[in-house]
Amino acid sequence: MLKKTMEKALNEQMMAEMYSSNLYVAMAAYFDAQTLEGFSHWLKVQAKEEMAHGMKFYGHIKDRLGRVSIGAIDAPPAEWKSPLAAFEAVYAHECKVSALIERLLALAVKEKDPAAAEFLQWFIKEQVEEEAQADAIVQKLKMIGAAAAPLIVFDAMLAKREG
Ligand code: FE
Ligand code: CA
Repeated sequence: MLKKTMEKALNEQMMAEMYSSNLYVAMAAYFDAQTLEGFSHWLKVQAKEEMAHGMKFYGHIKDRLGRVSIGAIDAPPAEWKSPLAAFEAVYAHECKVSALIERLLALAVKEKDPAAAEFLQWFIKEQVEEEAQADAIVQKLKMIGAAAAPLIVFDAMLAKREG
């Protein structure tokens, strides 16, 4: 049985994952508006992954006989200064999510909830990947700078993302 403090915190993280999904859909629209469809595709795949993260929390809350509750989701931003600024925002956002997961794990330990602590290990590992993949795109966009041709090549590469 899930303690109320853990139920509330897990529901909050579920909503944070759903916000991440909306943030990346909003970013996909920003790139589509510039006909950078590869970036947009990459972000749509990422948005789906974030919804899947949210549903992992849903599953854990349900399996622990807690109650899933869907709250309000803040509107994400709609504009960024440049592709680089957008991906710097992805990286900053993922660092924030990592901190939320770490805080949630600390709470699970404090509340003596080993099942939740074990469940959260997957996310600890996932956040290492999320930060690294966002950073890799930031670094490449920095190399590209204001040059259109390599940006278009990079866009075509990102169009190939499968999962
Ligand atoms: Fe996530
Ligand atoms: Ca991932």
